[in-house]
Amino acid sequence: MTAPTPAVRDRALGLATEELPAYLYDLSALDAHAAAVRAALPRQVEVYYAAKANPEPEILTALGPHVDGYDVSSGGELAHVAKAVAGRPLAFGGPGKTPDEIAAALEIGVDRFHVESGYELRMLASIAARVVPQTRVGVLLRFNLDLNAASLAGSSLAMGGRPTPFGLDPADADSVIAPLTDGSLPQLHLLGVHAHLASGLDAPRQLAVAESIVTWSQELARRHGFGLAEVNVGGGMSVDYADPDALFDWAAYGTGLARLCEAHPGLTLRIEPGRALTAYCGWYATEVLDVKESHGEEFAVVRGGTHHLRTPAAKGHDQPCTVLPAREPWPRPWPRSEARRDRVTFAGQLCTPKDVLARQVPVAGLRAGDRVVFAMAGAYAWNISHHDFLMHPRPGFHFL
Ligand SMILES: *Cc1c(COP(=O)(O)O)cnc(C)c1O
Repeated sequence: MTAPTPAVRDRALGLATEELPAYLYDLSALDAHAAAVRAALPRQVEVYYAAKANPEPEILTALGPHVDGYDVSSGGELAHVAKAVAGRPLAFGGPGKTPDEIAAALEIGVDRFHVESGYELRMLASIAARVVPQTRVGVLLRFNLDLNAASLAGSSLAMGGRPTPFGLDPADADSVIAPLTDGSLPQLHLLGVHAHLASGLDAPRQLAVAESIVTWSQELARRHGFGLAEVNVGGGMSVDYADPDALFDWAAYGTGLARLCEAHPGLTLRIEPGRALTAYCGWYATEVLDVKESHGEEFAVVRGGTHHLRTPAAKGHDQPCTVLPAREPWPRPWPRSEARRDRVTFAGQLCTPKDVLARQVPVAGLRAGDRVVFAMAGAYAWNISHHDFLMHPRPGFHFL
């Protein structure tokens, strides 16, 4: 998954120097990938794309045929997604929703609210009574569940169940649910449970988590005598930057979810993946500005850097990349700098040692003017980056 697709390769070589760096998105590749993900899942499972992974309108639109809706986590995402894919179902989640955001969401007609606290529940009920008095607003309660013991014995993964600002403490479940089932908040319709507990889980672990969430939710519904219509088991399907070919096993996940659906007929299961849908469709293309040695290590400084592609700095990995040798002849009157060692560390143009995209990459013979295409830059890449730091120009954006 790290070699650029033909369309990306052609564009990366075809752009002029001053058009670099550039984000290149292969929308055909995204379409094919999302279609395969959808095909692997049973009908009873709905897919909402978590827009925070990459909210570019072209990406949201390309995903349209393959998802049931979109998950938004702020007033900004709400307005943006509602405009980009008008009329599509939206779920509004995330901590710290403001009264204005909630009112805007109700006006837009968001059809699912993922409620994060008892306070937020009462705020939502009060604002709904004013803004949409004729409507019963669909609510899923987000819980911070501790599933370590239930489903992940022996796993060292940090799961829900530790103190975080996300969701409701399960210990508060009874007091929060009571007003939803005793008729004192008639504006709201309790549909079920939402739990997004971890990112980076492989398919067997995701399945174990999903099973535990459903079991816990059923027990909750039984105790309170409400009909459990929906369970959202979250996103977080793994994307492995160290092993780009190790794709999340959607087939195994789909098979397992089909079993879970059979055991719970009538229940709508929902997932909300972000990175595992879009990470692989984006590339960050740039060129080598200079190559030099420093204390026994070789460095290549590229145009751009982690202010555009913050992912490797944020997560502490090496961004997978491919070198496309520069076309001859070299157009400058001065000679090129050239790597003398087998391994080169790619750094950006920022005046900070943290601006490293990939360390010790085997690219013997690398020269100034060569193009470098960084893969897996389609999620949590441009939109998490600190692009105004040092005031370098912004990259171009190309949707292929
Ligand atoms: C971020 C987030 C997601 C998506 O996570 P990925 O790791 O990108 O799949 C889904 N649901 C919620 C509530 C989130 O905060």
